[in-house]
Amino acid sequence: MSAADPVRIAAIEAGGTKVVVALCDADGAPLEQARIATRDPQTTLAEVRDFLEAAQLRHGTAHACGVASFGPLTLDPHAADYAHLRRTPKAGWGGTDLRAMLPVNLRAAPFAIDTDVNAAALAEQRHGAGRGLASLAYITVGTGIGVGLILDGRPVHGLLHPEAGHLWPRRAEDDAFPGLCPFHADCFEGLASGPAIEARWGATLDALPPDHRAFDLQADYLGQLAAQVVLLAAPERLVFGGGVMAQQALFTRLRARAQHWLGGYVDSPLLSRDDFIVAPALGTASGVLGAFELGRDALRAGTEG
Ligand code: ZN
Repeated sequence: MSAADPVRIAAIEAGGTKVVVALCDADGAPLEQARIATRDPQTTLAEVRDFLEAAQLRHGTAHACGVASFGPLTLDPHAADYAHLRRTPKAGWGGTDLRAMLPVNLRAAPFAIDTDVNAAALAEQRHGAGRGLASLAYITVGTGIGVGLILDGRPVHGLLHPEAGHLWPRRAEDDAFPGLCPFHADCFEGLASGPAIEARWGATLDALPPDHRAFDLQADYLGQLAAQVVLLAAPERLVFGGGVMAQQALFTRLRARAQHWLGGYVDSPLLSRDDFIVAPALGTASGVLGAFELGRDALRAGTEG
């Protein structure tokens, strides 16, 4: 790397329906980008590899690579199955080594991988709804419920990574819906994801009138999740995204229910502000931008080390 050879970073967002892959400049702007439909792992990863090989010929070699992927994933770089998908409902993908999508020239380059929600949280914290804050939770409510967590500017890892969408709420008295989660039935994901809303009410929120019980119940469960995330990790902001949160009417009620469940116990002036719980500022761009940030961090760590 030099002034004559500016930094380039490969950024890959691997999702259940599509993979977005970009070769980016030093600021994260894509020099070239592609969307590839997610099919079986061999076909999909080969297309990503082909794209990166061709893009590097046109724009120059990448210096690092960051990946944001659906999970669950092994994130411990010392583990034998690092960057492998673990047991996943996505047919055929369990055990897949995601580094197989790297071109040969990138296999020894600085590399980082994280969950899609941790990467989105990182992008929102650095460039979006959490700018200026050191901590943030990104909660996506769509086909599932995922929680990405940034503390002290870094994504949280441990055994694997947080799975707070599978915490469980106190059930509403009038809610007899059994829940859809194959592991826990009535965890938050089982009760309040998009598929759970459709199964319970026979309709999506956008097809229901705003005074329908579905909105209050949804806001209550998400308010409980917000409160639990605050009690556990104390992030300075909660960003709620995903298809279900496109219903703007949810935000006001969600803020009120989060306050209700916190019960006045957490004594911070931030909590009562409308910007404590917000929509994403980056929209769908947060995945690939988060992957870029992971790659850039890996490059910095590699250069410093
Ligand atoms: Zn669950």
